[in-house]
Amino acid sequence: MSEPSVFTRILNREIPAEIVAETDRVFAIQDIAPQAPVHLLVIPKTAEYRDVTELAAADPALLAELVAVAKNLADERCGGQFRLIFNTGANAGQTVFHVHAHVLGGDLEEKSLVG
Ligand code: AMP
Repeated sequence: MSEPSVFTRILNREIPAEIVAETDRVFAIQDIAPQAPVHLLVIPKTAEYRDVTELAAADPALLAELVAVAKNLADERCGGQFRLIFNTGANAGQTVFHVHAHVLGGDLEEKSLVG
């Protein structure tokens, strides 16, 4: 069996992180290395999907729930305007292979995409 992902370890409270939202199937944390004034990660609790393509194919309702949590957080923290980024594949900058969305908001001028 592979090692639990860093996000699973956060969910299990084995690694500290600020959990900013939680539903039955999704949770959200502050990114430890923020690339924007608002930089959150929205993550399915299940680690069975490596990236957004797997998630979308297998459980579109869970992907929709993830997007809804992202929108609610962006409504609270950056006026509902945000970038939603799913790095997909190592060459695209993905480092954690437990699907997650980056929610970037605030003043994004001069900011490059995550990765
Ligand atoms: P990605 O490179 O798209 O796979 O995104 C992984 C993200 O997880 C990066 O933006 C990291 O800064 C973030 N990250 C890694 N470890 C932690 C942690 N312990 N707490 C919060 N964010 C983390």
